[in-house]
Amino acid sequence: MTDLTETLIDPQDKYHSDGFAEQPQPWPGLQRDMNPVPDCGEESYEGTGRLTGRKALVTGGDSGIGRAAAIAFAREGATVAINYHPDEQPDADDLKVVLEKQGLDLIQLPGDLTDATFCRKLIGDAEAQLGGLDILVINAGYQQAQKSIADITDEQFDRTMKTNIYAMFYLSKRAAETMPRGGTIINTASVNSFNPVPELLDYATTKGAIEIFTKGLAKQLAEKGIRVNAVAPGPVWTPLQVSGGQFQEKLPEFGQDTALGRAGQPAELAGLYVTLAEQGNSFTTGSVFGANGGTGVI
Ligand code: NAD
Ligand code: MG
Repeated sequence: MTDLTETLIDPQDKYHSDGFAEQPQPWPGLQRDMNPVPDCGEESYEGTGRLTGRKALVTGGDSGIGRAAAIAFAREGATVAINYHPDEQPDADDLKVVLEKQGLDLIQLPGDLTDATFCRKLIGDAEAQLGGLDILVINAGYQQAQKSIADITDEQFDRTMKTNIYAMFYLSKRAAETMPRGGTIINTASVNSFNPVPELLDYATTKGAIEIFTKGLAKQLAEKGIRVNAVAPGPVWTPLQVSGGQFQEKLPEFGQDTALGRAGQPAELAGLYVTLAEQGNSFTTGSVFGANGGTGVI
């Protein structure tokens, strides 16, 4: 029998388990300027052809969790397009270079998801440029921490709803019109879908909605042969956290309260997105899968 003790990786020690230094960035934040730069699997993810021939669009694919999913999809053999906000072009370009070094293409479709017309156009553009669309990852999100409901402006509330819920509705509705049988939609929920952090009241509300929308849409789209699932991350080191998603003074403790005693890195979630996208899990729909270091929430 092979001795695996040399190759097994201890999840507690896999990444540094200290907190992070304060490092404020204006929204939307660039991961290339973070310390440490998040690990999205650029050096580590190796594909084995699990998504050969598939056509995927990932929103928020320039950085963080969406970038990790985009890298994994491309290396598993899918053709990949990403959407991101135009202010994130540097991260999107860095990703293109990472994939091109391996001879893999990346289609860039920037634009603002708070615009309903753009959301509908995005699906059409992705279909045109990918030659179809059978994996849609709705992952973009807006999160701004506020101590009290009194501090949440009408504008912030509206933007959080529009980015996290309305865009999901517009994208899913349009994609469902043309997605082939066997296609799949994967949303990004959160531990906040189940247990709201007090300073994320508006954000947690949207994450609760994403969880229910995922389950409800799965019931509707079953008859079209389309599966709908969600990944619910716990604390993960991404630009969202340094550009208003957390209070800066909390960064030194960020992720320390998980059972593993550290924050996650985006690369650690990529496999879940691949698993939910691949054909083998054809009986899995309407479910939400946690990746949270053992918070006990899901
Ligand atoms: P991230 O900052 O890397 O990704 C968020 C992305 O949302 C941005 O890159 C941006 O491209 C996109 N976005 C936001 N507003 C947009 C707009 N108006 N138009 C177009 N794009 C827009 O951070 P992340 O943590 O990887 O976030 C990805 C998802 O994961 C989000 O839905 C977030 O809520 C969720 N999530 C993150 C954590 C965490 O701890 N990082 C935990 C639970 C859930
Ligand atoms: Mg980004």
